Amino acid sequence: GEVAEADPFARLNAEQRSAVEHDSKLPAAQQSPLLIVAGAGSGKTNTLAHRVAKLILDGADPHRILLLTFSRRAASDMGRRVGQVIRQVMGLSPSAAPPELPWSGTFHAIGARLLRDYAAQIGLEEDFTIQDRGDSEDLMGLLRHEMGLSATDKRFPLKATCLNIYSRAVNTREDLGQVLQTHFPWCREWEAQLAELFSRYVDAKEEQHVLDYDDLLLFWADMLSDEEIARLAGERFDHVLVDEYQDTNRLQAEILQRMKPDGACVTAVGDDAQSIYSFRGATVRNILDFPALFSRPARVVTLEQNYRSTQPILAASNAVIAEAPERHHKNLWSDKASSQKPQLVLIPDEVEQARWVANRVLAHREQGMTLKSQAVLFRTATHSAALELELVRRNIPFVKFGGLKFLESTHIKDLLSLLRLAHNPSGRMAGFRALQLIPGVGPATAKKVLDLMAAAPDPADTLLNFAAPANVALEWQAFADTYALMRRAAEPWPTDINAARDWYLPQLERKYEDATARAADIEQLAALAGGYASREKFLTELTLDPPESSSDYSAPPYRDEDYLTLSTIHSAKGQEWRSVHVLNVVDGCIPSDLATGNEAEIAEERRLLYVAMTRAREHLHLVVPQRFYITQQTPQGDRHVNAIRSRFVTPRMLPHFEDSLWLSAETNGARTPVPESVKMLVRQRAKNAWKKS
Ligand code: ATP
Ligand code: MG
Repeated sequence: GEVAEADPFARLNAEQRSAVEHDSKLPAAQQSPLLIVAGAGSGKTNTLAHRVAKLILDGADPHRILLLTFSRRAASDMGRRVGQVIRQVMGLSPSAAPPELPWSGTFHAIGARLLRDYAAQIGLEEDFTIQDRGDSEDLMGLLRHEMGLSATDKRFPLKATCLNIYSRAVNTREDLGQVLQTHFPWCREWEAQLAELFSRYVDAKEEQHVLDYDDLLLFWADMLSDEEIARLAGERFDHVLVDEYQDTNRLQAEILQRMKPDGACVTAVGDDAQSIYSFRGATVRNILDFPALFSRPARVVTLEQNYRSTQPILAASNAVIAEAPERHHKNLWSDKASSQKPQLVLIPDEVEQARWVANRVLAHREQGMTLKSQAVLFRTATHSAALELELVRRNIPFVKFGGLKFLESTHIKDLLSLLRLAHNPSGRMAGFRALQLIPGVGPATAKKVLDLMAAAPDPADTLLNFAAPANVALEWQAFADTYALMRRAAEPWPTDINAARDWYLPQLERKYEDATARAADIEQLAALAGGYASREKFLTELTLDPPESSSDYSAPPYRDEDYLTLSTIHSAKGQEWRSVHVLNVVDGCIPSDLATGNEAEIAEERRLLYVAMTRAREHLHLVVPQRFYITQQTPQGDRHVNAIRSRFVTPRMLPHFEDSLWLSAETNGARTPVPESVKMLVRQRAKNAWKKS
């Protein structure tokens, strides 16, 4: 029956309802902040959505609700859930448009919008562009090189490490010495040089009118230290709600506190046992400190019933988190009985693992479980390589989330650099990239021209009038004409992306053998651009919340097709599937070999496994390949290494898993330490995950 339930709020349990209705009878000025701390699958996000719906039904203006989520996808999921509740209550048809929540998104995306609004008041150039992680690294690398640091000392931290150190200091508000001591002890000897490098990095960004990701939070927090701006910005919103609060950092807590000093109408939800972003400076302390963050004390609501998973799945997940060094006081229970325990599957190697998982997925589908209700999760994007091959071979459609992003491919970055240079002629990293796309133009010429452009009243003129060397004169002219068209386009956006595309496509053919496939991406991007109101909006959105998979770009009906989800655990946060497979539940993968620095890192890896396991509703399979193949040029050629079951699945937990399988687990043998040479290979492979194509 399609009988719409009259009162969606009646489905909530007592604690959920009390959180939804918290202070709803009081005038805003008397409300207190609300914190919901609860375990996985207890309905935190669902409760938040009901609270937003209730606020709107009670008359709140959706345009004055600030809803902070972890990703763009989470924001749109939330919007959908809110819409559903409202439609049910109002008796509207399921096709009725949901209310728009224009201020829902990530902290970074919302920060970018507010900074544009207040740019003039805080001395930011209005044409600022946002630099992605890759460009930030490159800028760091360039300055590092200019300071001669790489030349004098070969061991000086790489550009990516430099950016990590800088970013951690910014996001945690710790000073450099402290950050080095606790997180990068091997870099301590370079504290003075790093300090100098970072101050140059900050100056360079300012000079070039670019902000990096961290700046979006930093400038936002800092602009709020001005009382008048804080009041203006805070008063734009009647309600502020934050999901996944355990993964926010110091700066984000500061922002909340400054936007709403008394905490009235602020709601945060989170789970300390699921904190998995401390490597980016997030801190569970935020949850612990929330009750005292504002001038008014917060009310804390806890939820204990898990509505997602069957009892056996929950029991196994609880067993994994129960052995964490820090205590998570949760009494999660579920009334979804099931006789099926999760499986711990031992398999000879990764190829067999891929085959077995593909078989299971198809078997589940036979039993009526769509591909969309199933997911395969893994610690690192590279771990799914063998499975992807198998899925392609067997024609099983899938979409992969996390890991390499569409925007990181060279040709997409090339095209965007053209748009960025048109938007902000002072931006060096985009400028370097764009100008060197002109055949025959190298770094020296690019630098000279960029210096001229930055100082010129009309940078397009500079390009048109530049006396390029005779051998590149024609190419130069074509580029300058395109640039002038982009800068001066009389027609509205997206004329300029079309101009950029038309100029770039021939370069692409010259540059790549697989130009056809790349050209299709470019066409897709240009088509997508039409959906944005302006060049600025397009660039900002794309940089801040890049699509997580290339399928985010594909038009329906592809989206409507049934497909399996492949995802890193990080990207699977907050979601659920009827069936979940977790790949490579072995030491070196979970916990990752990259993260065996200290106990805190290991604890975070344990929470990651907990997050992965708690995504499952009915079926959970942890797969343990006994061997990895290392496809790498070694004197021995391709080789394999022995693997051991993840240390997080201790013998004491085995009774939580299906009998037949844990027997073979015991034959897995004694734990032998992984030889150092093998660790190196595994690490090497993980490192390649970040290589840009
Ligand atoms: P996570 O910690 O993984 O983010 P969560 O606490 O946010 O989980 P939700 O995603 O909100 O949990 O809810 C988990 C599942 O439980 C969803 O399918 C949701 O619809 C369902 N659920 C939540 N509350 C109830 C309820 N009172 N009755 C029935 N189902 C519920
Ligand atoms: Mg949630």
